[in-house]
Amino acid sequence: MFILKSEIQFDTAHFLSGYTGKCANLHGHRYRVIAKVASNTLHTDGQLRGMVEDFGTIKQALKKIEKLFDHKLLIENNDEGREVARQLKEGPTDFDLYMVPYRPTAEEMSRHIYQLIKEMGVQVCEVEVFETPANSCSYSEGPVCSE
Ligand SMILES: [Zn+2]
Repeated sequence: MFILKSEIQFDTAHFLSGYTGKCANLHGHRYRVIAKVASNTLHTDGQLRGMVEDFGTIKQALKKIEKLFDHKLLIENNDEGREVARQLKEGPTDFDLYMVPYRPTAEEMSRHIYQLIKEMGVQVCEVEVFETPANSCSYSEGPVCSE
């Protein structure tokens, strides 16, 4: 099996509603996202001959993901999240909030990013989101691409 890997990184803050402990405070991470595209076969003719997929196509999809998340503040779109967002919006700074329909954990983000890449037409088989250099979550549907 052939497995392509492409990576992006972005800086994003998140607020975990309903969480107690150190991470209850608003904080950010340098997120690292690795998308994998796998295939048992290669294209046999045309522009993509000898390839699983054009790296440029994967990169384009990842650039859109980067644009969506980079330097945003992720807040869950629930009662607590909306209240936090309201308070932030009342302040003097126009914070760039990204209201998401989930608690913005590495797990939920990996599933969300997987689905977004898939919707862009890239046959992604796994998305891994690193919240720190040592901690990540991988999301895949169906057969997992092997290393
Ligand atoms: Zn965090």
